[in-house]
Amino acid sequence: MATYPTQFRNIGFELDTPTTTGYRVVDGFGFTVKVEDARMYTLRVPCAVRTEQDAQAMNEALKAYERQNFRTIKNASYDGRMICIRYIGQEMLLNIEGTVGPLIDLCMETIRRFGAVPVCARCGRTGDLGMCGLHYSVEDICSHCFEKAKGDSVRRQREEDEKVENMPFGLLGAALGGLGGAVLWIVFSFMGKIVLAAGVVSVLAVYYGYKWLAKKVSYLGLGIALALGFVLLLTGMYFAMGIDIHRALNDAGIPLNFGEALGLMPDYIKENLGVVLFNNIFGVFSYIAGTVICVILHKNSKKVSGRAVRL
Ligand SMILES: [Zn+2]
Repeated sequence: MATYPTQFRNIGFELDTPTTTGYRVVDGFGFTVKVEDARMYTLRVPCAVRTEQDAQAMNEALKAYERQNFRTIKNASYDGRMICIRYIGQEMLLNIEGTVGPLIDLCMETIRRFGAVPVCARCGRTGDLGMCGLHYSVEDICSHCFEKAKGDSVRRQREEDEKVENMPFGLLGAALGGLGGAVLWIVFSFMGKIVLAAGVVSVLAVYYGYKWLAKKVSYLGLGIALALGFVLLLTGMYFAMGIDIHRALNDAGIPLNFGEALGLMPDYIKENLGVVLFNNIFGVFSYIAGTVICVILHKNSKKVSGRAVRL
């Protein structure tokens, strides 16, 4: 199956990469399809009908469609300003190509039946619409709302520029996140499990911990935080092995306390290097994979944070 950017292209959609949102104007109506995760997307199209009764009837018609297609349609509704349809696919990759087309047909049919007109997604006014990339979304809005969003964007950018990175606090947050990751590793290994995602979870905890307390994230700060998280994860691995050895020795009738068991660790690692590497290599790989995800997340958040552009 084609990747989703290709699938979007195949059905005439443009793709806003940072927000994973495809968009296309059909007969003056601005459709957006936001890929939420590997199994789900949300289709939206702003439009207005003349009366409250029409709005209710339109919502009912969509709700009926939702009930008929409950296996794949999680929500289909109209709130008076916007049609919203949430699609869930069981397949690993979304079948955007095969499913968005029929949903657009459904929307257009419903729109025509109730005589709806295209409107601004923000203020609900008609006319002068255009697709815009705003902060973390793509919306079909009027030029008045666009100018307002641009003003907000400039203000937010200025606020962002004025923020100062608090590295010591950030590293405290990162350490808390990293400790969480290390404890997770110990708990899982105590249960006799190697969890591939533990490293990724650990990195994300470090990243968000840093972001939370540092207020602003530079690449230098992020690098130090990730290195700190890695050291904490390695420490977690060390303790996990220590617990293992302590248990094994006690089971074998050698009553050592935990501190003494830890003291045996350097020799143990030297003698069983292969096993030690094998047991922990997945955690290390997973941490590295998480680091890559993290850097991409950070880069993308910089790209869209506070933006207001015409697409
Ligand atoms: Zn508007």
